Amino acid sequence: MHVAMIGTGYVGLVSGACFADFGHTVVCVDKDERKIQALRQGIMPIYEPGLEDLVDRNVRQGRLSFSTELSPAVENADAVFIAVGTPSRRGDGHADLSYVYAATREIAAKCKGFTVVVTKSTVPVGTGDQVESISREVAPDAEISVVSNPEFLREGAAIEDFKRPDRIVIGTDDERARAVMTELYRPLFINSSPLLFTSRRTSELIKYAANAFLATKITFINELADLCERVGANVQDVSRGIGLDNRIGSKFLHAGPGYGGSCFPKDTLALTRTAQEAGAPLRIVETVVGVNDARKTAMARKVVNALGGNVKGATVALLGLTFKPNTDDMRDAPSIAIVNSLLDKGAKIRAYDPEGVHEARKVLPEEVFYAENAYDCAKDADVLVIVTEWDAFRALDFGLLKTTLKQPIVVDLRNVYRPQDMEALGFTYESVGRPNLV
Ligand code: NAD
Repeated sequence: MHVAMIGTGYVGLVSGACFADFGHTVVCVDKDERKIQALRQGIMPIYEPGLEDLVDRNVRQGRLSFSTELSPAVENADAVFIAVGTPSRRGDGHADLSYVYAATREIAAKCKGFTVVVTKSTVPVGTGDQVESISREVAPDAEISVVSNPEFLREGAAIEDFKRPDRIVIGTDDERARAVMTELYRPLFINSSPLLFTSRRTSELIKYAANAFLATKITFINELADLCERVGANVQDVSRGIGLDNRIGSKFLHAGPGYGGSCFPKDTLALTRTAQEAGAPLRIVETVVGVNDARKTAMARKVVNALGGNVKGATVALLGLTFKPNTDDMRDAPSIAIVNSLLDKGAKIRAYDPEGVHEARKVLPEEVFYAENAYDCAKDADVLVIVTEWDAFRALDFGLLKTTLKQPIVVDLRNVYRPQDMEALGFTYESVGRPNLV
């Protein structure tokens, strides 16, 4: 089949490369000329494990190409995917659909023959109806069927997630579109990934419901971590104790500095707005949004407390800046609020991230000093803070760190280490929801 992927970001590039790997012919289109130029030279615009090899292989085999021009790709396509960004709209938190609608207009003007237009971007309920009516307005005679097919991949494990998804959700009631989508995903359900067909509106809502549920699970355990700290319990054991119950499940029960990233913050907020406007407010999700926002600055306070209540003039070394390991994505990362809050309180910041520094420089204040590695980061710092649990921070040489740090204080916001071990190594150690020496 012929596929046009409009938007070559985290989702568009990974999806496009994976579809090509299944044997389809894919053109990834993006407005960003530099991105397309780089991709044509084999340079990846994002860090995602395994992506470079996947892209390289499919380009060499002639199934994957890159273009800033929409027209030839769309004219030849059986399916055109819209994978452009849907960020939070400034001011009201609704999803900003301007990129989706702009892409829709361009696509509709170029479609030839029967074409399935698929919203892969995360879009609020009813967006498919809008995409359909815009398409009809732009090209009244075009044969376009609009389908919702939300993406559930996780950055850092995106290729594996795309190729072996728990499910593929497809929202359409058009038989012809259903046949095209089935053909596109056929290589996947041979691996027994279930294809779930629903109405378009239901499919759109499934994506938001999934993200809101996961964000709620994280926020639930984060609040329990606070309670654990007050009552002398251990949140990791609480997680294990509840997660072994199959009805609950152990995933997304790791206490930490609050969720961030390019999806959960904007999607939870957008869902609350949709629900309010529909007259069916989701009060649980509204609370989750508020609790999570507050948590990021509370993490900065944790650092301040570890230094006896004052960080003015102190040097804080931060390990990990991206919102999670194995990505360079800094969008809404908890580190942003933590850095800003500590700078406001008069601290100096040294930071290190294995892949995220390029993106971090764009969003963090200029005063931040970027170190070469974890040990350089810790140099003469008053406290070492683990913000993101990259593998490189899982077996740190604490003997060396002790000689490098000004004082042996570690704040571990990801519970990577064990309090008793850190104590034995002679560190003052703070983590999340785990009392020392329990
Ligand atoms: P991104 O910002 O990385 O990429 C979007 C790309 O679209 C950019 O390169 C931009 O230049 C391009 N673009 C915008 N308008 C265009 C147009 N008219 N024509 C061609 N290109 C255009 O975004 P992303 O992280 O890939 O997210 C895309 C969508 O997928 C969002 O709705 C997001 O919520 C959703 N999603 C993201 C993830 C994730 O992990 N990043 C996971 C699931 C779903």
